[in-house]
Amino acid sequence: MIYISKDLVEQIVEHSKREFPNEACGILSGSQGMVKKVYEMTNTDKSPQTFFMDAREQIKVLKGIRSTGQEMLGIYHSHTASEAYPSGRDVELAHYSDASYVIVSLKNKDNLKIRSFKIKEGKITEEEIKIV
Ligand SMILES: [Zn+2]
Repeated sequence: MIYISKDLVEQIVEHSKREFPNEACGILSGSQGMVKKVYEMTNTDKSPQTFFMDAREQIKVLKGIRSTGQEMLGIYHSHTASEAYPSGRDVELAHYSDASYVIVSLKNKDNLKIRSFKIKEGKITEEEIKIV
């Protein structure tokens, strides 16, 4: 389970819409499962089908998160034409077994979907997103 405020969900959705038609990506930080901050990251793939975070930007953000005593809780990205479910490549690139992988689907513009998953050793488990 991951806890997040409505405002931060909106920030993720807005970021995803802004990057459309490419995928958006970012990092979620907080503590004890509660997201406190959304870091919008650069998708260096600049692709409608994949994302890859800028490595230097990622190191900087992770340092910043640690310096505030928080932790990286998750990684979010958007799917522009597919369901809010991890792709094969998403699973391959999911290196943080404790992280929540949040996916926003823009497939249906009138009914955006946001879901969260844990990905451990290639196994996908959905978790609840609790909006607080
Ligand atoms: Zn994906």
